Amino acid sequence: MKRLSFLLGAAAAIALSTAANAAEKPRWALVIHGGAGIIERKDMDAATEAAYRKAMDAAVARGSAVLAKGGTSLDAIEAVITGMEDDPLFNAGRGAVFTADGRNELDAAIMDGSNLKAGAVAGVTRTRHPILLARAVMDKSPHVMMIGQGAETFGQTQGLEQVPPSFFFTQRRWDQLEKELTKRGDPIPAKPAGAVAEAADAPKPDDHRFGTVGVVALDAKGNIAAGTSTGGTTGKRWNRVGDSPIIGAGNYAANDSCAVSGTGTGEYFIRLTVAREICALVQYKGMKLQAAADEVIQKRLTALGGDGGIIAIAPDGQMAWSFNTSGMYRAMAADGVAPVISIFKDER
Ligand code: ASP
Repeated sequence: MKRLSFLLGAAAAIALSTAANAAEKPRWALVIHGGAGIIERKDMDAATEAAYRKAMDAAVARGSAVLAKGGTSLDAIEAVITGMEDDPLFNAGRGAVFTADGRNELDAAIMDGSNLKAGAVAGVTRTRHPILLARAVMDKSPHVMMIGQGAETFGQTQGLEQVPPSFFFTQRRWDQLEKELTKRGDPIPAKPAGAVAEAADAPKPDDHRFGTVGVVALDAKGNIAAGTSTGGTTGKRWNRVGDSPIIGAGNYAANDSCAVSGTGTGEYFIRLTVAREICALVQYKGMKLQAAADEVIQKRLTALGGDGGIIAIAPDGQMAWSFNTSGMYRAMAADGVAPVISIFKDER
């Protein structure tokens, strides 16, 4: 009896909050990031800024098109992230940062808030779209996480496109690696076989690792999901894996709380289980999404000495971002609302 009245209470509460939000809840919404870090106006030339804004605009358009047609939040994430993985501006897929031995080791994760299914891959070197591999792990295997060669072998059985490792090469990421290794006093490895430098007018190197990409989305059925894809951090060694493919750290989604994708120094995000922590504050403390995001990023992550940011969405249409760096490439869009695209801290 007690349990029944509890259930009735919960149902009534849901009905009330749905009614309260009915007026403002968008039919669909999405938030995208393209990495956080020391991104400052004084260091960015007009052409580079324009290139990033254009890329974020295109990312929003891809995701919005899927959601406006009634597509799922997972499909929107795929559409946005596959494009960003192919774009050398971002540290994901082509344009990923290099390990200390001159390789690209890619990590990705995706999570479905409607059923808590999740898929993640780490340390892949030949799969063109790690986010599709993460999705295949979720949809087509009994597992949540696969790494390295095994993950790639699984991807081949699923017909996912394989490319030579040099496909991911960009000169600007190589220049960043050389800078980082020189600073450390470590040797510079040989370039990957077949590496081709891009055109000389490509955007200049920026900080050593920006450009992890992530998407959180709400679809017309009311389901939320999160996806993240990255090359990790420049000069990483020993098969280091960051937070991006760790469910609950850099990526998380649950319809009863929120969906989060993070970017920043992964070690801190893992230790704080940043993504799940934000959702726990929403779920158990009833906090608003923005307040929960700020609590974890501005207070807890900062107190631990970590840097980075997150994007988040809730099933009732709340959208949030929070970062403690000077910038984060970011965008939000929703049904009937003009998209917002921002880079620097002093923007919205
Ligand atoms: N979080 C990523 C990692 O630590 C890197 C980033 O977001 O910049 O692997």
